[in-house]
Amino acid sequence: MSDDIHEVYAVCYASHSRKRSENYIFGDPHDEMTSISYYVWVIKGPHGTFVCDTGFDEVAAKERARKIIHPVGEGLQALGIAPDKVDHVIATHMHWDHAGNYDLFPNARYHIQDTEIRKIFAYRVEFHDGVEELAPGITVHKVGGHSKGLQCVRVKTRRGYVVVASDSCHLYSHIDEGRVFPITYSVGDTLEGYRTLKKLASSRGHIVPGHDPEVLKIYPSAKAGLENWIVRLDADPKI
Ligand SMILES: [Zn+2]
Repeated sequence: MSDDIHEVYAVCYASHSRKRSENYIFGDPHDEMTSISYYVWVIKGPHGTFVCDTGFDEVAAKERARKIIHPVGEGLQALGIAPDKVDHVIATHMHWDHAGNYDLFPNARYHIQDTEIRKIFAYRVEFHDGVEELAPGITVHKVGGHSKGLQCVRVKTRRGYVVVASDSCHLYSHIDEGRVFPITYSVGDTLEGYRTLKKLASSRGHIVPGHDPEVLKIYPSAKAGLENWIVRLDADPKI
């Protein structure tokens, strides 16, 4: 394996039903129920394992009436990863559904944008400002929009540059139709962020939205038995 080529996985841990209109800042004429998925992402390669976002745990799920299907730790174990051995966690932003499970990664360093959090709460945090290379072929890029210091992750893979958008693009329809999720710090930065994602990714099919259930359908499962749970993002999607 070359020094800068990585495997990338989406690990789904929860889903939630909501009205379609709740997904867009100006609503949607179609008011049927739809679902959003919750993911963490895993980057595996010659520089170790990077876990991107940490998801939420059972306590947070209960508070917000969400249902965890497979706890994050279980998903990582299914990929052969022991959470307490993980060295690097990339925190795309500090929203509850991306930055919980505090106890799961006791030995990891956290990579986060400086503008996302001003309070230095632990010594295991590395603050980044703008673009930063974490390892050959892995870079974080500040996008903002949905939250002030939201970052996406660009990973060089065997099929080109995959961009884990996280909440810089919740659903494919956001980037395809230029629409915006209702929770937003800056609409302008969100729209500018779509342009950034398109520039960073090898194609539209290399952008991985943060909450789209389609991701589980269009990418192959990481291995037999993990269907509809863990998919391989460095494999070509069926689109
Ligand atoms: Zn989110």
